Amino acid sequence: MCWCAALSAAPVAGGQRTPPFSRRSHRRRGNSIRAEAPPGGEAQRKKVAVAGAGWAGLAAAHHLVKQGYEVTLFAADSGPTEEVGLRGFWYPYRNIFSLVDELGISPFTGWTKAAYYSPQGLAVEFPVFHDQPRLPAPFGIFAYPEFPGLPLIDRLTSIPVLSAVIDFDNTDTAWRKYDTMTARELFKMFGCSQRLYKEVFEPAIWASLFAPGEECSAAATVGMLYYYMLSHQENSDFVLCRREVEDKIFSPWLKSLELKGLRFIANTVPTSLTINKDTECISGVICGEEVYDTDAFVLATGLSPLQSIIRNSPFLQSRQEFTDLLYLSTIDVVSVKLWFDKKVTIPKAANICSSFDDLSGWIFFDLTSVYDDYCDEPGTVVEAEFYNASHLLPLNDQQISTEASGRLINCIRDFEGATVIQQCVRRSPRSAMHFLPGSYKHTVRGTTSIPNLFIAGDWIVNRHGSFSKEKAYVTGLEAANMTVDYFGNGDFAKIIAVEGDEPHIETLRDLNRRANELKTQIPFSDFFLQ
Ligand SMILES: Cc1cc2nc3c(=O)[nH]c(=O)nc-3n(C[C@H](O)[C@H](O)[C@H](O)COP(=O)(O)OP(=O)(O)OC[C@H]3O[C@@H](n4cnc5c(N)ncnc54)[C@H](O)[C@@H]3O)c2cc1C
Repeated sequence: MCWCAALSAAPVAGGQRTPPFSRRSHRRRGNSIRAEAPPGGEAQRKKVAVAGAGWAGLAAAHHLVKQGYEVTLFAADSGPTEEVGLRGFWYPYRNIFSLVDELGISPFTGWTKAAYYSPQGLAVEFPVFHDQPRLPAPFGIFAYPEFPGLPLIDRLTSIPVLSAVIDFDNTDTAWRKYDTMTARELFKMFGCSQRLYKEVFEPAIWASLFAPGEECSAAATVGMLYYYMLSHQENSDFVLCRREVEDKIFSPWLKSLELKGLRFIANTVPTSLTINKDTECISGVICGEEVYDTDAFVLATGLSPLQSIIRNSPFLQSRQEFTDLLYLSTIDVVSVKLWFDKKVTIPKAANICSSFDDLSGWIFFDLTSVYDDYCDEPGTVVEAEFYNASHLLPLNDQQISTEASGRLINCIRDFEGATVIQQCVRRSPRSAMHFLPGSYKHTVRGTTSIPNLFIAGDWIVNRHGSFSKEKAYVTGLEAANMTVDYFGNGDFAKIIAVEGDEPHIETLRDLNRRANELKTQIPFSDFFLQ
């Protein structure tokens, strides 16, 4: 028996037109539930629908197509897209770099240097770390950059914070413990200096979690800092895409998947599902008037679209794991590309800036030195992205351009004599997960209580240890592996683990774990608020 579960407010097609689905019973294996192979030998090709053609959805489609599944990928736009702006690909993005090798493309610049700016001007200049001798983590990250104004005494106040880094080992226990406090509280608790926090840690938090430290979970912050900065000095190194990711990576990737049999359906979003009432499995995806029979469904749309789906779906609302997602918050982003009439010397291609107004962090890139297309421009092309930018959303393009130019002058005086001759503004409301304290307990894993529904995206909980695009890509492969496991058919995708802890960190973490175990044996240890 099938019934329709509306996904969104769009008109829902009747369930009767759904082609009859093949009845399957389901049996559990370990924690997962597997579809029983159809009787009589050779497995028929299973159909998998994937919604969302970003890093996560493409990754899932990629592996499942290679395993011989009949995959349909639904995209909200005319082609695969990712969120706004131009992006960095960091040294530990091993899975994405391996994908790029597999596709045989060269989309990246060389290793790029970055600078941090505070409202007072240049705060930190970063070198390419893997060109420097490797120091035991995390000393390289504090020894090699140039800090024009930050005294050594401020930098030394980072040392006590390292005990939190040792304690936060990316386990569920660690996430629950540190997710109850803000990043700012954590740095305050460990005696971090005001200037070190403002000039180094806060811009890093803005650039990776898109919100100020007082509004970010300490768990997400320590996890992020460990991954990008503190675990291995070269993890701070990055390359940039030499043009939009859509053109340089997604387009050739999609082409290669279509050649392998992927069915790509552009400008089409699932509006409804058909559910098998007996098994509570998804049996079809309905997009307006069209019905697509499916044996499994990977949802990789990003958090905000998924929340809209839940708000319009009585079926999903009947399950707490989905209603819990409505507690999660998202962040508005505004980006603006500016063409200036004259050449301005921008020392570093990527520039991360702490909040100039205590409202929104921002970042700017010198596209003239990054994009192949702009290298011959007579003037300068800059892209600025503003995070937590709800207050900028209602401004008109001219006002946003004026705001961006004013901030650029604050960082690089040469902009004073340059005039904006063209601008392109993009407003992206609710485009990134806001890792607020307390979010972790509401977040979902890749598997759900619906046996053949899998979720992927950079905002879900997994244990890989990566962040951002690399995490999105990894969760897509994980969703593909869950699908393979569910059908019991095909090989698992190889997921490259993040590089292990350096030996001294491993030893300290072992000692810390033992100390934590001992603490639990002290009488009344759970009496006090943890
Ligand atoms: C401002 C900003 C800057 C960033 N910079 C970096 C960076 O420098 N480096 C880095 O590694 N990461 C960066 N990130 C993070 C990175 O962009 C994300 O980690 C990544 O895009 C997440 O991929 P995803 O596939 O999970 O989701 P998304 O990229 O959100 O992809 C979801 C896809 O689903 C589509 N979709 C939405 N609704 C539906 C629907 N109902 N049906 C079908 N499709 C739908 C969307 O159009 C989109 O194509 C940045 C993020 C932001 C917001």
